[in-house]
Amino acid sequence: MADMTQKPGERFLSIVVPAYNEREVLPKFHERLSAVLTRLPYHWEVIYVNDGSRDLTLRVMHALRTNDSHVAVLDLSRNYGKEVALTAGLDHAQGDAVIVIDADLQDPPELIPEFVAHWEEGFDMVYAKRIQRDGETIPKKITAYLFYQLLQRVSRVNVPEDTGDFRLLSRRAVRSLRQLREQNRFTKGLFAWIGYPSKAIPYRRDPRQAGKTKWNYWKLWNFALDGIVSFTVMPLKVATYVGFFTALVAFVYAGMVIYKALMFGDPVRGYPSLMVVMLFLGGIQLMGMGIMGEYLGRVFEEVKRRPLYFFNTYMPSRQSGPVAAEGGFLEK
Ligand code: UDP
Ligand code: MG
Repeated sequence: MADMTQKPGERFLSIVVPAYNEREVLPKFHERLSAVLTRLPYHWEVIYVNDGSRDLTLRVMHALRTNDSHVAVLDLSRNYGKEVALTAGLDHAQGDAVIVIDADLQDPPELIPEFVAHWEEGFDMVYAKRIQRDGETIPKKITAYLFYQLLQRVSRVNVPEDTGDFRLLSRRAVRSLRQLREQNRFTKGLFAWIGYPSKAIPYRRDPRQAGKTKWNYWKLWNFALDGIVSFTVMPLKVATYVGFFTALVAFVYAGMVIYKALMFGDPVRGYPSLMVVMLFLGGIQLMGMGIMGEYLGRVFEEVKRRPLYFFNTYMPSRQSGPVAAEGGFLEK
């Protein structure tokens, strides 16, 4: 919750922007963002996180920082993916509230004043909920819909549908989130997991302004898998029940076979049924092992207890106090 003893003018907003190969859109993005923020009665910083871009993104960020004292630049040691880049930004954010936004202008910065207004009312988390997905294909819409339906059913956390990472987090929420250091970062799930009073704001998601999306179906599939597997052990239970059920069916079938053999003798037949049963059971077993493998793989990732990221440099904004500017890993 916002500290009510302070006036808005004394409070500090941090904007975290993960960016990977966003050279083209960044200047335009910064222009639109700062137009919104200068109109608000807060101190602010915007932390651009360079997620190992292969183009001139970092140079653009430094240029922005030279020209604007609100800009901070965090340069990660390589490409870690958006989830980790976002986490790195949150780790460095000093604001009383932190806003996470994509660099490609799909998340309209113009919503920020509304976020902040609800934060002042006492919400810890204010997030944007898409009412329209412009520029997205029908299969993508359908798969997204099915995914959220499934996730809703199988997990205990209520991950809101049609929301991205575009949101405001109170300091308390950021502190809580910083304690979740798991490697498999399904951020939407993590946001939902920490709880706290939340508020959804409907908006129209625009098509990206320049550059290309980094998503493809394989990545989306893995994202969905992470979402499910890191928030519920339901699939493991499904494997158990499928196993039980097939065992039961096999038992009944065995009874029938024995009964038939006793009553009518046993002429050599039954190759098709044998084959069917074998393939079926083989398939079920592989499936069960696959599901276990998904979990085991994630356990493997976690037990290594590696830090989430390393960074080359952090150049803080000239709005805030001095913080660690050396490379390395920043602890909570
Ligand atoms: N991004 C990142 N690291 C990556 C991929 C993406 O920091 O490895 C950033 C990207 O620059 C953008 C945001 O994450 O600011 C969302 O990426 P994208 O637009 O590709 O995803 P979509 O909007 O299609 O979900
Ligand atoms: Mg995008």
